[in-house]
Amino acid sequence: MNSASSSTACVVCGSLQTAVFAQVRGVPVHTTLLWRTRAEAQGAPVGDVDLTYCRECGHIFNPLFEESKTEYTQAYENSLHFSPLFQKYAESLSGRLISRYGLHGKDVLEIGAGKGDFLAMMVRGGVRRGIGFDPSYVPEAAHRDLVDSGRMAVVQRFYDPETAGATADLYVCRQVLEHIDRPRGFLERVRAGMPEGRGAVVFFEVPNTLCMLRDLDVWTIIYEHCGFFTPQSLGRLFEVSGFDVLSLDEHFEGIFLGIEARAGEGVGRGGNGEAVPGGLASLVEKFERRFEEKVLYWKTTLRALSQAGKRVVIWGGGARGVTFLNMVDTERVISYAVDMNPRKSGAYISGTGQQLIPPSGLISYKPDVVILMNPIYREEVAGTLRELGVHPELVSA
Ligand SMILES: [Zn+2]
Repeated sequence: MNSASSSTACVVCGSLQTAVFAQVRGVPVHTTLLWRTRAEAQGAPVGDVDLTYCRECGHIFNPLFEESKTEYTQAYENSLHFSPLFQKYAESLSGRLISRYGLHGKDVLEIGAGKGDFLAMMVRGGVRRGIGFDPSYVPEAAHRDLVDSGRMAVVQRFYDPETAGATADLYVCRQVLEHIDRPRGFLERVRAGMPEGRGAVVFFEVPNTLCMLRDLDVWTIIYEHCGFFTPQSLGRLFEVSGFDVLSLDEHFEGIFLGIEARAGEGVGRGGNGEAVPGGLASLVEKFERRFEEKVLYWKTTLRALSQAGKRVVIWGGGARGVTFLNMVDTERVISYAVDMNPRKSGAYISGTGQQLIPPSGLISYKPDVVILMNPIYREEVAGTLRELGVHPELVSA
């Protein structure tokens, strides 16, 4: 590891026992922004990543992240709700939270509600009222009945407890914390905005960095993620931010971490998170060794496919797809990115500029190879390809 950077203080625990273990240069700053023209996509702003590991609390973060480079607008699109598998996971999560915390007839507040899909699910599941905050929100026809009847509202701005004008019994925040470069200050504000004496709880969900390390899943490195949480660092963050952790589990085949917590006795307790196990440090070391190898493998593989005249597409135009294309498809071998989300069709990938097409676009294109960005969807994608009557080789990135 690069000891020259060892003076960067950890954003979770403040320790100076940190070191850079992987570097990526010139990645698009907005992996999930939709671009209307190829020229716009190829001119998209870029930034650098120094993955930095804290030996004290097990957190990984990018000190080169500049918040001013990122912006969330209505063109921001990261909804996973078009995958049936993800839909099923979200339904079960919503049902479990409602029953565990007795939320029938209670209120839910969602920070970073996206298009309001999960909030609507919770309201339909029995919650009295759902209020969400998200600058990228656009009203959805599918939720109009809930909005019209006053059971659901999404405010088109960032959540600020001081001006929110609402409190709740459950605070939900999914896939947001990893985008925040000062997560401790953010959590302390959330905690301060929670009502006293109502037994309110929070549920936060983040990508599970153990998966990235264990599976050498280098495509989850994106600029927008300035924080990479391990179970150790996630628990530690909530403790030092004044929460009592109720549970901390892996979700959705282990690719997410979910934490449930209550406002604790006082803000900024020392934090007594479990010690970082030695296994985590060795995973980080292994990742450091194999990271460059994996990138080189894919560059070589794509070159060989190109020389053999193969038609190659990727399946998954989200963040992983954007990272994969920008890190390895430097010679523009891949023609399209397939995505289930119809809202993305026709748009272009940041940086490399491939067009996003729906699965039906493969009927005429007849690819020889489909590179799957997320192996969790393998069966689902294989089934869709069979239904479309196309028979490419399906490989995982
Ligand atoms: Zn730390």
